[in-house]
Amino acid sequence: MTLSAYKKKRNFRETPEPHGGNPEEDDLRFVVQKHQATRLHYDFRLEMKGKLKSWAIPKGPSMNPGDKRLAVEVEDHPYDYKDFEGTIPEGNYGAGTVIIWDEGTYVPAELYPGKKAMESALLKQWKDGHIRFTLKGHKLKGEFTLTRMKENNWLLIKHKDRFASSKDITLSDKSVRSHKSLPTSPGSRSD
Ligand code: MN
Repeated sequence: MTLSAYKKKRNFRETPEPHGGNPEEDDLRFVVQKHQATRLHYDFRLEMKGKLKSWAIPKGPSMNPGDKRLAVEVEDHPYDYKDFEGTIPEGNYGAGTVIIWDEGTYVPAELYPGKKAMESALLKQWKDGHIRFTLKGHKLKGEFTLTRMKENNWLLIKHKDRFASSKDITLSDKSVRSHKSLPTSPGSRSD
């Protein structure tokens, strides 16, 4: 089976909504990895120019437009990291367990003709410290903004739209790939 055939199948399973507009190759991906490290956090990653722009969100994303979630920008990750789920051994950077809490495709909030134009616009928004985008995930859907406050500190805020909800989306705690939850050991640190 060719890679493109594989991708088509996989994308069909992962994206519940019908695919309008861009062909598969033109899709930008996002992933949110729930990471039980020294402190539990959610790694929020957006594909941009072949890399994953990355933020660590201590409380996780919210679907409530009234919530402002601190998102600390961390180093870019390689594109393939979006597929990582598993355990980073003790003594290594980011030691702990990672699950793919959500994933899907995303687009800038405004319309651009094709992937290159979308990525250039997104990269400019990132440089300007204000990114507006629409997520098409399993859990996260609709428009969001990421706004830089100071240095690496950004805020992730849900935009008011038909997907907005006061329901705590983090209660849906399983991996969208393996359906595993993070292990909660009695001795795990909460500091
Ligand atoms: Mn992490």
